[in-house]
Amino acid sequence: MEISEIFKQKKTGLSFEVFPPKKESGIETIYKTLDALTELNPDFISVTYGAGGSQVTNASTIDLCSYIKNKLNIETIAHLSCLYNSKEDVSKFMQELKDVNVKNILALRGDENPDYELKNDFKHASDLAKYIKSVDSDFFVSGACYPEVHQEAENIVEDIKNLKIKVDNGADHLISQLFFDNNAFFDFMEKVRIAGIDVPVEAGIMPVTNKRQIERMVSMCGASIPAKLSKVLQKFGDNDEAMLEAGISYATDQIIELAANGVDGVHIYTMNNPYVAKKITDNIKSIINV
Ligand code: FAD
Repeated sequence: MEISEIFKQKKTGLSFEVFPPKKESGIETIYKTLDALTELNPDFISVTYGAGGSQVTNASTIDLCSYIKNKLNIETIAHLSCLYNSKEDVSKFMQELKDVNVKNILALRGDENPDYELKNDFKHASDLAKYIKSVDSDFFVSGACYPEVHQEAENIVEDIKNLKIKVDNGADHLISQLFFDNNAFFDFMEKVRIAGIDVPVEAGIMPVTNKRQIERMVSMCGASIPAKLSKVLQKFGDNDEAMLEAGISYATDQIIELAANGVDGVHIYTMNNPYVAKKITDNIKSIINV
């Protein structure tokens, strides 16, 4: 089913994110991961894009999207960041995607990286969204959004104004940054809808499976840790098995509450771990279909 159709159904959308492996030794594993994720029947699987188009192995974003779409028959979204891509690069990327029968892009700005030279054709993700639609309006364009405010934004009002530009420029759907406090997401959604942003918004869920990983994530994206999760980390953080079980339960609880409150969809950051995705999906199978 085309992604634009997914959110017209009554059920809660379910999608996964994977990233291309960083080492050659991970190539075989990523295809096995994708095979395993397919069994969980997601609406789509998105594939991240390295800063500056950096591709460390021979499994690129486009290769993985092609495998998902053409071998596994699942919809897929290719992430694409724009600071280090020219208009020509983006057109080429779009053509390569079209060649493998994929017409869905998550349009991102990306973050500055001193290892690469800025191309200066695009400043914001909204510029990229506009360009993609101008080249081929049949492309389905997604965008990122930030329930706890993007780290560079002055405040939530500015951030949502900018988000509205992204949607007005062509973003058909949004995927949120990870968050652990559902109330932050609910507050954000209220403001998003008041601002007249009416596209489907998927909630980004990152299962916390070890303490180090969450400390790194939180320092990178600034997600707040509610007291309930903080207690879980304190009590189980040094026991890998207990933390894994607790992290799966925490993500499950988050999803149940989001679904009960009518979220458009949940996007699970799988970290290429099909075991965790399966455990969570098994817990919410009926819930997301109501
Ligand atoms: P933008 O939407 O451009 O926003 C960035 C900042 O600029 C915000 O503070 C915003 O308020 C401001 N802004 C936006 N538009 C305007 C405007 N018109 N005028 C003034 N200010 C403006 N990174 C990768 O490198 N590869 C990936 O695959 C990847 N996948 C991601 C997936 C998701 C779901 C999310 C949430 C993030 C992902 N990222 C990825 C990270 C992302 O690139 C960074 O968060 C980056 O800092 C911002 O990207 P953006 O597309 O949200 O930028």
